Order: sequence, then C-alpha cells, then structure tokens
Amino acid sequence: MRKITFATLGILCLTWISGASDLQDRCDKLSQGQLQSVIEFLSADVLEGRAPGTRGGELAEIYMHSLFKQLGLKSRFQPFTLHGFQLSALNVSAGGRELLFLEDTVGSYTQAENQFSIEGDAVFAGFGIRTSLWEWDDYKKTDLRGKILLVRVNDPGLFIPQIFDGSTLTYFGRWIYKIEEAAKTGAAAILLIHTTPTAGYDWQVVKNSWSGEELYLPASLENDLKFRGWIREPSLKSLLAENKIDLEKLYRKSLSRKFRPMDLGFKIRISGRNSSRQLRTRNVIAEIPGSSGKNIVLSAHIDHLGRDEQLEGDQIFNGAIDNGSAVAAMSLIARIFADAGKELHYGLTFLVCQAEEAGLLGSKYFVANSKREEIAANINFESTPVWEKSLDAFAAGGRYSTLEEAVRLVAAAQGMGYSRFSLTDQGLFYRSDQFPFAQAGIPAIWLSAGEKFASGRNHIAEFFKGGAYHTVKDEYNPAWELKSLRQTVKLAVGLIEHLNRTRELPRWKARLTFPVPSPEGKSVKAINK
Ligand SMILES: [Zn+2]
Repeated sequence: MRKITFATLGILCLTWISGASDLQDRCDKLSQGQLQSVIEFLSADVLEGRAPGTRGGELAEIYMHSLFKQLGLKSRFQPFTLHGFQLSALNVSAGGRELLFLEDTVGSYTQAENQFSIEGDAVFAGFGIRTSLWEWDDYKKTDLRGKILLVRVNDPGLFIPQIFDGSTLTYFGRWIYKIEEAAKTGAAAILLIHTTPTAGYDWQVVKNSWSGEELYLPASLENDLKFRGWIREPSLKSLLAENKIDLEKLYRKSLSRKFRPMDLGFKIRISGRNSSRQLRTRNVIAEIPGSSGKNIVLSAHIDHLGRDEQLEGDQIFNGAIDNGSAVAAMSLIARIFADAGKELHYGLTFLVCQAEEAGLLGSKYFVANSKREEIAANINFESTPVWEKSLDAFAAGGRYSTLEEAVRLVAAAQGMGYSRFSLTDQGLFYRSDQFPFAQAGIPAIWLSAGEKFASGRNHIAEFFKGGAYHTVKDEYNPAWELKSLRQTVKLAVGLIEHLNRTRELPRWKARLTFPVPSPEGKSVKAINK
C-alpha cells in the first residue's frame, strides 16, 4: 500500500476543493482547432447528413473508428440490422368516411407486403397506460387481439396536476411508450390521437417525421401490432360523428382510474401501399479499461436526418450541433484520458451511437447486448452548446440519481452553478441516448453546459424551439466561440475524476417517472420523492 504523507493529503485536499487537476488543465489547453475539427468534418456536405446505412453515415463511423485508433485506443464496430418501412399510400376509413394520407393520418406498416389491408373493431383505450408507479391501468386485461386502438398522447397529469408528475411529461405520456404497450396487447393497430397541446408540437411535425422511411430494430417487431400511426383530432371527430360518438365524452372517461377500453361499435379499415428493406449499420465503441470491472459509458449519436431530395435548394441536414458538437465533446474527453494514460477505477467506454434519430436504436441495441453489472453509469452528450461561456451546468435526468449531486459539486469546483434543464418538461430526457440506459436501470444523464449564458441569451432554448434544430440550417459556423463546448468537456472530465476518486457507484435516489426492471424483474416502485 502506498503511504499517504501529509504533503500528498494536502495536495489531495487542495485538488478536492479547487477542482483543479492535470486532466482539467488539459481541457483549458485544447486549441480552437481541436474544438472545431470533429464538428467541421462531420457536418460537411459530403457526409450528406449521416443517415444510417448511407455512404455519409458509413464515412462518419469509419472516421470515429480511425480517430479512436489515432488516440491509441482499442476501437471496434458493433454492427446491427434495421428494418425500414415506407408508405406511399394510406387509407383509413370507417363506414362511408375516408381519411387522407398526410392530411388526416400518417403511420408505418411493419410487415413486408407491398399492399396491405387491416380491418378491426375500433376501441378507445384512453391514454394506453399500464403502470404500477401511479396505479394506473387503462387496459384492465381486456382482450384486444386484432383490435384497432385509438389512444391519447401525454398522460393524465396534464389535466389533473395531482396525479402522475403534473404537467411534467412522464415517459408514460410519450407516443413511443403507447406503441410499446399496445404491442403487448395483441392489438393489430394503434392510432395515436394528435392534438397540439397533448403532443407538444403541431400536425406539421408529425407529418414531416412520419412521411419518410421508419426504421425499427427487429426485436420491436416481434408482436401483432402491424400498423403504428397517428390520426388528427378533427379527422377522428368526423369519423366518430358519423357513428354519433362524442370524443369529449370519451376524453372525460379516460381521466379516471376506473377507465376500461371502450369498444366503439364500428370497424376501422387501414389499407395502403408499402415498401420495405433491411439495412446494416454500426455503432463504434472504444475503451479505456479500469480496475473495477465496471465502466462509465460516455455516449453521443453520430447519425442525423440525411438529405431530403424533395426540398428546393439546400437538401442536406448537416447536423453540426445535433450531434456533431456532442461527438466532438466526447472525442475530446477520449483524447484527454488517452493522452494522460492514468490508471482508472471505473474504466471508460466511448459509444458512438447510430440511428438515434430513428428512435434511439443504436443505444438500445448497445444496452440490450451489454451486461448491466459492468456499467457504472451513462453520461450522454446531445446537441452540446457551441456558443459563449455558460454560467451553469445541467444534467438532464440527474434528479433521479446521485449523479446530480456529483455534477453540482464538480460544476461548483469549476466556478459554475447548476440548474435543471428547462426543457425537461417536454420529455427531452426520454429523447436521447441516455434513456435506454436509464430504462435498463443504469443511472444516466445528459450532461451539458447550461442555459444561463454570460450575455443573458438562452442559446439552447433558441436552438431547440424554432431554431436550426432538425432543419437544413444546423450547419457548422467557424465563428462559434465554442466556450460552452470546452466547458462541457471539462465538466465531464471533472465528473469522471470525481467518480473515480470517491469510487462512489451512482444509484437512483428519487421517484422514477419511467419503468425500470428491478433485479427480481418487477418494476422498481418509487423510492420516495
Ligand atoms: Zn440529437
């Protein structure tokens, strides 16, 4: 055992208080060129928006693999298969009334046939939620095999603040959860009812994101749910009016724990034309092993939305901020630890995820093929800020685990405050690669320099709300200061050092708003708020 002298103790204490360390100094010394380079390359037009399975997507994977090797790290590809489906025509009808593709309804038919037609009894399934976390069960073991489910988005907390998490969207309010849950019932199809207040975005957004190809992991298709789609509320109202049903009445019933699925007494027919294909894509994984046998997984998705040939002018979704800047942050952290060559208690896994934009598919695949006990925590990077200095830090999802306190300490030691991410209410924690880790029971955060920028502007909110986010304008700008990118790198380095120094294993500490498997396979009940 090494002797600890007063002198080393003194240095340790000093280090603890000031937060200064050799590794953190290295963050301060990163050049502007080093901060820029990964973003600049990944967002170049020649990569064509880095969609999975495309030439640009593959180039991005090879680039990261090569970059990790250049740093002296072991790097490997993790290939996986995706199924892609794209509709070219869709018809939803009931009685004499027909709804129009894109205008009234969108969706995805997840079977190989080119022509399809499904008919089933229309059943209103309320919010389509079944969870012991809030003692809520909209399904009540009803036999729904072959039915066509109509399901509300969001959760009852939006209407009754005392239940669920009030107006903060829980995972049970997300449309993706509704589909996962409906797939367990044996139903043939689900139509999510779109309203702007419950979805959080208007019909245009639904239409845009569901009019192209939809990608799925094969495991998510092993069920009877052949059609997953959306219906616009006014269009549904017109279908119901034909059958003398008042939607508002159905809505009122759905706000009660006593709710059970309601057979609406008419049939819905969903038919259309479909094309399907399989494609292969790859995560890239590099590693710095530690002595504990557990790794902290750092992650950032490399894919973006590709190109849209229907657009006039610029067709390329360059994804410079989403998610070039986050991949840049992660690769700089890899550089700092690789260069320092220090021994670690918790090793580091650098996970470059594919197909995040298609539904967190790369991180889901990684988690499903990892051993839970070998992962200490996940630190994810998403749309890392590229602007001026930020006065604080955030860790989306931090409130659920001991990671928030750790981030708060590290931020304070670096002269920054800590604030919770203001957009968490819109479910952003559920919408990037940290979430599949959390769902597997692994404490996970999205770490970033925060929204309080020195000038008073909130660049992050501006980006996500009506800014360049998910548009062709998310392009590289050589004039970016990249101060908040540097800060994010330094926060992560500090956090990794903190966890390694304290050897504290991150754990849940608060009531979870999403289901997590317990060791016994049951969902973990609230651990007091
Ligand atoms: Zn993203």
